[in-house]
Formats: sequence, structure tokens, C-alpha cells
Amino acid sequence: MESISLNLVMLGPPGAGKGTQADRLAKAKGIPKVSTGDMLREAVKAETELGLRAKAIMESGQLVSDDVIIGVVRERLAKPDAQRGFILDGFPRTVAQAQALDTLMVGRPPLVVIDIAVPEDELVQRLTSRLVCEDCGTNAEGVPLSASLTTRCLKCGGRLKQRSDDNETVVLERLKVYRRDTQPLVDYYRSRPTFRTVNGAQAMERVFADLAEAVDSAASGGALGGVR
Ligand code: ADP
Ligand code: ZN
Repeated sequence: MESISLNLVMLGPPGAGKGTQADRLAKAKGIPKVSTGDMLREAVKAETELGLRAKAIMESGQLVSDDVIIGVVRERLAKPDAQRGFILDGFPRTVAQAQALDTLMVGRPPLVVIDIAVPEDELVQRLTSRLVCEDCGTNAEGVPLSASLTTRCLKCGGRLKQRSDDNETVVLERLKVYRRDTQPLVDYYRSRPTFRTVNGAQAMERVFADLAEAVDSAASGGALGGVR
């Protein structure tokens, strides 16, 4: 099973837990997680040309232009470590990006697409109360904002902080952009036999179990047109 390549797209609103779950699944499957949000944040930190272009856009909750982000993803998926599969987190976010991704998949196994669904009031609560590691970007699960100075990242020991786009104003804008530009992707993908929905409003362990099961069923049965 693990030798068959898996080309996975994690869909879902900001705060659905895509990144956390994608990290874990990427390790289990031995394929890279490709997070456009992480790549952009690294570019901002390194002050590359891409980072300088993206910074203000990200801080206002808007999307980086399709051309730019499609170019970034095309280059990343062409690297050797992505030839055996990948988990995309945060891409595609528009129909134009999804169409571009389809053209990149010619000659590869079909995309498996998992939509992680979470009600909007819970998303606002999660995003405005979360801390992330300043160094590796990992979410600090279960650490309240008030403990930001007394707790360190479990993975790398880095300092914890609030992401600059996790304040309420920008969160509401990101959700608006999600509804307008990204939610239509559910309809774009829904009719494919490799599409599944997972309930993201459960404990992390349960979400992971449901996700793993959905991926396996979609990757085996789905690719053959199986029902489920
Ligand atoms: P979220 O928690 O909103 O899912 P991400 O870390 O995925 O956050 O992305 C943060 C920001 O990076 C987005 O609000 C957007 O400005 C930019 N970004 C990330 N991925 C894309 C993309 N595929 N297309 C355009 N902009 C993107
Ligand atoms: Zn860390």
C-alpha cells in the first residue's frame, strides 16, 4: 500500500486543522507535506522577492495572486521528493488554482481530495485563541494565550506567539475570502470518486482516524471507481 503514490489535497476553511493533520499523515505515509502558507511565511521571514510581495497581502487576509502561487507549487511538486506523492495544505484555494493543479497531475495517479468540515463559529474561536511556534510554525495544541511566555514548542523548543493574521478582524476577512473563493472548490471536486468529507469538529485523534480511513478508501476504491 505505502509504495503506491498518494497525491492528496486537504481542503477546508482556515482553522479546520488541515496543517496539523497533514503533518501527521505525511509522516505516516512517508511523503512531503506541501503547505503554501508555510512556504509563504518562510519567504516573508527570509525577505525574498516572493516574501516581500506576499507580506501585506497575507496580513490583510487576502490571497496571493494565482499566477504567483501556482508557480511556487509547480516548482515544489517537480522536486524529487514529491514524485512518490505529496499532501497539499492550503492549495488549491481558487478554481483557477485547482484547474492548474489538474494539468500538473497529467500522468500521475488521480488526486485524492479530503474536505475537513468545521462550523464557522468554532473556526473563529480556534484561530483567535491559538499559539504557533515562532521557529517551526507548529500549532501549540491546548496552550492558552496567557501561557505564551511560559511555554515552549514541544517539537523544537521555539518561542510561542500569535500568528499576525490570527486577530479577529483578519480572521473574519480570511473566512469571507474562504467562502467566496475556496468553498466553490467543494463543488469542483465533489463528483469525483476520490472525494471525501471528514468531520473536523471532533477531537484531533478522531479526526486523524477518520482522515486516514477516508484517504485509504478514496485511494483504493475511489481510483477504481468504487462506491462509498
Ligand atoms: P489558513 O490558516 O488561513 O489556512 P495558511 O497558512 O494556509 O492559513 O495561509 C496564510 C495566508 O497565506 C493566506 O491567508 C493567504 O494570504 C496566503 N496563501 C496561502 N496559500 C495560498 C494560496 N493557495 N493562494 C493564495 N494565497 C495563499
Ligand atoms: Zn517549533
